[in-house]
Amino acid sequence: MLKGCLKCSEINKLLLSYIHFELNKKMMTRVAIHLRNCPNCMEKYTKIQKRKKDLKLKMRVIEKQLRMEREISQYLDNEATDDLIFNVEGMVLCDENYKKALIEGEEIKRILKNSYNKISELKNPKIAKKIIAKIRVKKFKLLKIKNYFIRLFEHSRHVIAKFG
Ligand SMILES: [Zn+2]
Repeated sequence: MLKGCLKCSEINKLLLSYIHFELNKKMMTRVAIHLRNCPNCMEKYTKIQKRKKDLKLKMRVIEKQLRMEREISQYLDNEATDDLIFNVEGMVLCDENYKKALIEGEEIKRILKNSYNKISELKNPKIAKKIIAKIRVKKFKLLKIKNYFIRLFEHSRHVIAKFG
């Protein structure tokens, strides 16, 4: 290594700040020069950059999924504004996921409504109990999927906060 050049151990400590452009101009240049000349540190740098990119991509997918769920549920519950109705109906036409989510949402809504109507008309508490148990399973499944996405989303956000 040339005199005045940074050591690998120093680069190790500076790498995250370098990736976040948090170093001053002179240090940015010094790190860049080291990376250009050191395959080991360059590999580390590339790995972190790749992880950062992957996480951002993953987070965008999850954000999109959560937004879709929220919009569909507002749409189905008649809580949507005119703009949102226009948006959801447009998305359903061009995005298979929206279409699927809407159909599933409508189906669940229908099941819940039918079951509710049935239960309110029922005289036999045994059958009512059975139907309620069925609804619980369906609701639980939905909740599980939603919680999974929320957990994944929180996790990604946490990691991105750490790595940028
Ligand atoms: Zn190095």
